Amino acid sequence: MKFYDAHNHLQDDRFAGRQGELLAVCEKAGGVRMVVNGACESDWPQVFALARENKMVLPSFGYHPWHLHERTPDWRKNLLKFLDEVPSAVGEIGLDRWKPDLSYDGQEEVFLAQLQIAAERNLPVSIHCLQAWGRLLELLQNNPRPARGIVLHSFGGAAEMVPALAKLGAYFSFPGYFLHERKLRQRETFKLVPADRLLIETDAPDQHLPEEKILHPLVAADGKPLNHPANLPAVYAGLAEFLGEKIGPLAARVEENFQRVFGGL
Ligand SMILES: [Zn+2]
Repeated sequence: MKFYDAHNHLQDDRFAGRQGELLAVCEKAGGVRMVVNGACESDWPQVFALARENKMVLPSFGYHPWHLHERTPDWRKNLLKFLDEVPSAVGEIGLDRWKPDLSYDGQEEVFLAQLQIAAERNLPVSIHCLQAWGRLLELLQNNPRPARGIVLHSFGGAAEMVPALAKLGAYFSFPGYFLHERKLRQRETFKLVPADRLLIETDAPDQHLPEEKILHPLVAADGKPLNHPANLPAVYAGLAEFLGEKIGPLAARVEENFQRVFGGL
């Protein structure tokens, strides 16, 4: 079986230089490609380097709302430089009204500037959204979007919003974190996602699976647990079980979807 990780952060410093080792384990586990999302100017070079070293890595460059305060006056020019350098996606970008003490000032402006770049170049874009779903829908409805689609990573919006977002070209990406018992509402929502719009992700090193489903335990230097990207098959298996589907057909469907939105990069 072939597995595609629609969203992770393999460049994360918490992996402490073990990326080569992690990629080898992913490959052994059936991983074919992973979208590695940069989050700020300081980690774009690491994402770029990983893509150079390993074909499995599909690089993605963007400013995440949690890092906006770090942006330099040249951030947009810098972003274009990376997008010009290597076939890549745009992301992780987004809107966040959930994180305590995070300012919302400037979030929409930076989000729209990046959405526009993705639309102009017809590049897939990975979107993070927490407690701003109504506003995100409005912004997507009223601005140009990439024709090949947009990826809503760890989609946790209301079930009622799925049809409107799907109409705008959205793909809905399911993380292993939603396999926790308490995430039933988020899992139920995925029953309404159109068959041709489903993606699966690890969001490694974050979004831990329930303890008993973890295939590859991993611990950071400081002793804190990390989500190993090779846990991806367990996310597929967990979702297949929840949807009452066999994992084979589900994986085939996700492969088609992944190729449709990220193909050619
Ligand atoms: Zn992410």
